Amino acid sequence: MTVIFDIINLKTKAYCDLIDITSDIGKAIKKSGINDGIVNVHVGGSTGAISTLEYEPGLVKSDIEEFLEKIIPYDRDYKHHRTWGDHNGAGHVRSFLVKTSQTFPFKNQKLLLGTWEQIIFCEFDEKPRNRKITLTIMGE
Ligand code: ZN
Repeated sequence: MTVIFDIINLKTKAYCDLIDITSDIGKAIKKSGINDGIVNVHVGGSTGAISTLEYEPGLVKSDIEEFLEKIIPYDRDYKHHRTWGDHNGAGHVRSFLVKTSQTFPFKNQKLLLGTWEQIIFCEFDEKPRNRKITLTIMGE
């Protein structure tokens, strides 16, 4: 078994920026030379997350944003704001819920995703960020 690390660099916008990273992951799998295996996609940070989505404007710009805003609104007075004097409490809670890491299978260097399924990075911080997404590609 071989293990290859790679990085995807992203510049994000603040508040619920959902970015399709499927093709970047596909390129990294090809570059790795590994044919069959799994790729772990991880963001080191506590206000970002990795998930999957049918990446179309209604879901990306409305449905997901509205749903998360209903259950974890940005303008709530989070206790975290009093602890550190920052204002990204909603980002931390959203990241806690969605998670910072996901693993996906691939075969013949192709991700085994559904036809309309894309892998997305979720920026939940209240500030734009430079993010490094770590890919750990394992297989043979
Ligand atoms: Zn914070």
